[in-house]
Amino acid sequence: MQVSSNQFKQAASVKLADPNVQKALRNAKGKLVVARSRSILELDNFEEIRDAAARIRDFGLLHMDVLLEEWEKKAVAAGTIVHWAETPQQVNDMVIEIARKHEVRKIIKSKSMLGEETNLNHALETAGLDVRETDLGEYIIQQFGETPSHIIAPAVHKSKDDIADLFALKHGRPRLDDIAALTHEAREILRPHFLDADMGISGANFLVAETGSTMIVTNEGNGRMTTTMPRVHVAITGVEKIVPTLEDISLLLRLLTRSATGQSISNYLSFTTGPKRPGDKDGPGEFHVIIVDAGRTTVLASEIREALRCIRCGACMNHCPVYQNIGGHAYGWVYPGPIGSILTPAYVGIEKAIDLPNASTLCNQCGVVCPVKIPLPDLMRKLREQQVQKNLRPWPERLGLRLWAWTATRPAVYGFLTGIAARLGKWLGGRERLLHRLPAAGSEWTASRDFPAPSGKTFRELYAKHRNKGTR
Ligand code: SF4
Repeated sequence: MQVSSNQFKQAASVKLADPNVQKALRNAKGKLVVARSRSILELDNFEEIRDAAARIRDFGLLHMDVLLEEWEKKAVAAGTIVHWAETPQQVNDMVIEIARKHEVRKIIKSKSMLGEETNLNHALETAGLDVRETDLGEYIIQQFGETPSHIIAPAVHKSKDDIADLFALKHGRPRLDDIAALTHEAREILRPHFLDADMGISGANFLVAETGSTMIVTNEGNGRMTTTMPRVHVAITGVEKIVPTLEDISLLLRLLTRSATGQSISNYLSFTTGPKRPGDKDGPGEFHVIIVDAGRTTVLASEIREALRCIRCGACMNHCPVYQNIGGHAYGWVYPGPIGSILTPAYVGIEKAIDLPNASTLCNQCGVVCPVKIPLPDLMRKLREQQVQKNLRPWPERLGLRLWAWTATRPAVYGFLTGIAARLGKWLGGRERLLHRLPAAGSEWTASRDFPAPSGKTFRELYAKHRNKGTR
């Protein structure tokens, strides 16, 4: 997927002004939040489970080399063909090579965020292959010619009417406006593709070291059909998805589905351990797994390594007031919301995603809900520090902060200047007590809302006044 994260501010303004996107986000806002908060009440010891989940993920990351070797040994023993890819390009090349070797014409895909990272669909189509997304949200997005705007709800920015119009146009059938009927229609359209596809491609939520299995969590059954019906299957996943045991998986699942959709458990949990064996009713004749680095080991060696604990539940974005108002596309790459504000600069380069670590008020809603306790605001702060150290922030901002630092360390000058600003601000605010336009960087704030005018006194003046009155 092309990176356009450096257009974050412009893209966010466009999304804020788009009534269709705003309507779809308003409808979605809160639904997943409420579902999550209800479902975690089912767990008496939710915080203890979060602690344990964070420990499991940290253990996997700390012992990644040993666990991946153990996983590979078991997987190969079960007949899996294992590949290792360092770069996104290598992933695409490997998939195309496997497809050519098996004379594949049609591919069905289950959702894979790593496939989005490598721009896999584009590479496959350029190689002359017919690729069909089968997750309903991904199918919708593919028909629109867009990219996902959420990691578990790719079409969350689309309204029911958008989809009804799309299906009528693309399917050449009468327009339906009932969600169940639209879903049924998509299923009818997709079913023949499941039957005649030569290859299936999926991601993997986890790799289980003790069994050599890949594992996917889905709600629609398309993942199970994608992994079992075509004669060749390719699973693509990152090195960080390794988990030691099935018991660890069972604990992580208690949090993953509740944090993602508010479900106690998802409809399908599919484990794949090697290809179809003699006597098996279904399964691929050949099963490939591509284990991908693509920047992950660099993150592992960095001060933001906790980001690799992520189990892709989407809770941080569902709860983020920034994401709730602009949706996912404004973030300009695969991962939106708070985790995207960390992973995007980490994977594509901090200079290509300058605004993302700053696309947050650091309110810590994301940190509170993250099931594996990733300290998301702390990691964004670390990335901000890196930007400053590398002189990547715009010069007016750097100059402003230098001036601020100079005055803030000289109390008399600071008091004098803030006193003038407080009085001037009060005067400019007039009777409304609102500033409609601020100079310099403040103009971005007042571009879409007013700024409350100061009272005419500085905080220090007010503090001194109340302290003298004994009311502090
Ligand atoms: S960072 Fe945490 S909350 Fe966000 S998607 Fe990952 S696991 Fe879920």
